[in-house]
Amino acid sequence: MPAAPRVRFAPSPSGELHLGGARTALFNYLFAKKRGGKYFLRIEDTDVQRSKQEFVDQICYSLEWLGLKWDEPIVYQSKRRDHHHSAARQLLQAGGAYRCFCTVEELALERDEAAKEKKLYRYSGRCRDLTDDELKLRLNRADPFCVRITVPGGKTKFTDSVYGKIEVDHKEIDDFIIQRTDGSSTYNFTVVVDDMDMEINWIIRGEDHLANTPKQIIVYKALGSKPPRFAHLPMILGPNGQRLSKRHGATGIQAYRDMGFLPEALLNYLALLGWSPGNNREVFFFKELTEKFSLNKVVKKGGVFDEKKLNWICGQHMSDKSSQDLLNTMRELDPDWHSDQDESYLLNVIEMVQSRTKSLSELNEFSGYFFTDPQSFDEKAVKKRWKDTSVTELMNRYWMSLHELTKWEPTVLEEHLRTLAETENVSAGKFIHPMRIAISGQGVGPSLFDLMALLGRERVLRRMNYAIDNLPPS
Ligand code: GLU
Repeated sequence: MPAAPRVRFAPSPSGELHLGGARTALFNYLFAKKRGGKYFLRIEDTDVQRSKQEFVDQICYSLEWLGLKWDEPIVYQSKRRDHHHSAARQLLQAGGAYRCFCTVEELALERDEAAKEKKLYRYSGRCRDLTDDELKLRLNRADPFCVRITVPGGKTKFTDSVYGKIEVDHKEIDDFIIQRTDGSSTYNFTVVVDDMDMEINWIIRGEDHLANTPKQIIVYKALGSKPPRFAHLPMILGPNGQRLSKRHGATGIQAYRDMGFLPEALLNYLALLGWSPGNNREVFFFKELTEKFSLNKVVKKGGVFDEKKLNWICGQHMSDKSSQDLLNTMRELDPDWHSDQDESYLLNVIEMVQSRTKSLSELNEFSGYFFTDPQSFDEKAVKKRWKDTSVTELMNRYWMSLHELTKWEPTVLEEHLRTLAETENVSAGKFIHPMRIAISGQGVGPSLFDLMALLGRERVLRRMNYAIDNLPPS
């Protein structure tokens, strides 16, 4: 039996959590949960210049909102400096790393020479073989130094779960720096030390880190440890095939929350960016995603952000939810949301509108006329359906006949309207369309008769009155 996964999501808090990061977190989460493993959050905040507390807060808040809560307390990389230092010391002692005293000027010279010879620059390894005396002298003089890892000859080979077999000749890798002159440690080193200490056995992250992986495997081996398994996720591309831009989905996750998207809908959409369950199904509840997820079905091709599809999936989730669930979620965002209304009326309203919405904001927006009488009317609809006063006259007669109706139910209302249309020798549409405008202000919406029944006679007649007095516009 393979060991239960221990995975981590390791964002750098130099910006908000975007779709790409959220998808990485999601795949880690799903992978761990499906196999009874653990999912950690590590904040990689060692870059003091770029890391900001507000981004840490935003990342954590967005992950929680999405439901991707980590299993154990957050690990802050900045609090692990001692561990990074002691690992570097351990390497220095064991000969797996060395102090490099080359100055910026010396390195620039090396770089210039490589450029002249049109060769890719690699550090020459000049300080690898300093004698003990030289070393002592320099240390006594307190010459500044960085620490470089000794990259052995040979090759690094590994199999990435998504990208397959990868092989890199060490001739292509120079003795890279693991600890800078100012004592800070570099990414390729800290990430390995932390992953080793956290006993991470699977690393699932963005494809932009694929090129770092051979260096990290070299560090694992230098520290005497077996590297974990790797799975790199394809980039999410904009519709133009380029990296995601602000205009195309590169907004922070919080923006989706503010727009009233349901978190499970967003997760559903993210899951499909790079992963496919192998059939044409596209709408999944979160629980199903966990059951079905597998790294084997992650494809190499970059997922393309498609706003239309996102909206469609969000719409499906809005339709599938029970009205009670939607009411509860609405109330989580705004505890006072129509709190003066009867709950059963609210549930009926939600049921009537939900299938036409893709977000809670739309639910709020599209249900406005259930609570407030329309004072203005959709101009386009009026132009088309309430052209002149002949419509006003028809609506006047409809208004009078509605007064006499004994029952106020959808079927009765429908039959009554159709009979009236026959008597007037016009199509039912001549009543249906203006009536919708009159009672909702809109040109489209739920079934008219259901709408009339729910609004109730008094409200309907009042709204008709107002429309009759104000339409068509003069
Ligand atoms: N901190 C890195 C980033 O935000 C990720 C490191 C990793 O997953 O190995 O890109």
